[in-house]
Amino acid sequence: MSQKATILYIEDDDASRVLIQRVLTYAGYRVLIATRALDGIDMAKKHHPDLILTDINLPDLSGREIIVRLRADPHLAAVPIVALTAQSHDFERDKTFVAGATGYITKPIDAVALTGQIVEYLEGRRDSASSASLESAQRAYNQELVERLENNMRDLETSYRDLRRLDRIKDDFIQLTAHELRTPLTTVYGYSRLVQTSPAILAVMGQDLEVNACLTGLLESIERLNKVVNEIITVSRIATGRVDLKLSPTHISQVISQVSEGYKQVLEQRKIKLVTANQEWPAPFYADAALLELALNNLVSNAIKYTPDEGTITIEVPPASAEHVKIRIKDTGIGIDAKDQQHIFDRFYTAGDTQLHSTSKTAFRGGGLGLGLAICRGIVEAHGGKIWVESAGYDEKGLPGSTFVIELPLNSGVPGQTRRTFL
Ligand code: ADP
Repeated sequence: MSQKATILYIEDDDASRVLIQRVLTYAGYRVLIATRALDGIDMAKKHHPDLILTDINLPDLSGREIIVRLRADPHLAAVPIVALTAQSHDFERDKTFVAGATGYITKPIDAVALTGQIVEYLEGRRDSASSASLESAQRAYNQELVERLENNMRDLETSYRDLRRLDRIKDDFIQLTAHELRTPLTTVYGYSRLVQTSPAILAVMGQDLEVNACLTGLLESIERLNKVVNEIITVSRIATGRVDLKLSPTHISQVISQVSEGYKQVLEQRKIKLVTANQEWPAPFYADAALLELALNNLVSNAIKYTPDEGTITIEVPPASAEHVKIRIKDTGIGIDAKDQQHIFDRFYTAGDTQLHSTSKTAFRGGGLGLGLAICRGIVEAHGGKIWVESAGYDEKGLPGSTFVIELPLNSGVPGQTRRTFL
């Protein structure tokens, strides 16, 4: 059996790894290699080797921690695990046996002797601790574990602080770039509005198809660029906690009809029905109507974007409870996969194929940056509310649809209050 046995060798040092791998392969063993402890643990669980050789000093976990971890797995509890290490001190050896090692071989390796030792371990050899004081080895080992845990916690805290700092730098950079872009864009956008309303230019566009195509493409791109830059500015304001809520009594019916009005033309073109299902509306409540309109705009524009022609979008505001008002935006579109549902509210997350989005020639979809829902979440959370999606999954043919629900507390704050939020 020994000639066909599988040996997993966990070692980060290149020279030792190459040497031992050669010796064992030459001796006829199937050798699996891991250079990190966590990979080694995964490979052991997956391949159930006949013997495991492990270094003690590894970059992620120590060899002793690997042994403890593998001994807890019933499939690996009895597998021979031999430490291969430069640590020759008896005390180090004993700590390794306390962790559950079968054997202990010290480097430098004697290549000839090694194959013989491997055969012995495969045939049942079990070494034992040399020190009389196993108790102190156990104590030292426990202490080692706690120290490593403490060091790992400190490293994690430092990494977390660094990541937060980088995140802030990134947010500032995005915000600065967006503002720099907005200055020249305001002029370009202004001229584009003039072009759209100038009778002389409209007349030329009506006569010359080529001019018409060029100007239409230009105007659409400017419109889109303007939207993207504004989205980035809004989302970076939300992300850096600079949402100032201007609370005033808000008639949700007015906000909804404002939003619907804005999409009249595209709804007609796409033959999509926008239904407002309410017979009765809740009493006005304190909210920032402009920001709420922005959130609903994003949700309705998504509903239109992800619903094929001739679909239906329903906006419904069920009777308010004593504490909350809910707004439901339901579409008959392609739906959202369960695995994406918790991520779509994150910044820059797009569930579909972005390539398809930005080049799509189909009647629905169209490019998006993955910021719309992040903006919605920021606005809703600034109000102390919640937003979520309900969908049976993604299916372009079955069209299960999606329902986005916004829940806002009725006691959203004091009028005129400025509320800070953090995404
Ligand atoms: P985008 O600008 O890409 O639309 P959003 O943040 O608004 O970004 O949405 C994130 C992702 O959520 C989209 O890329 C899309 O895959 C998915 N999504 C949003 N709304 C809908 C919807 N009504 N139906 C299906 N998918 C949706």
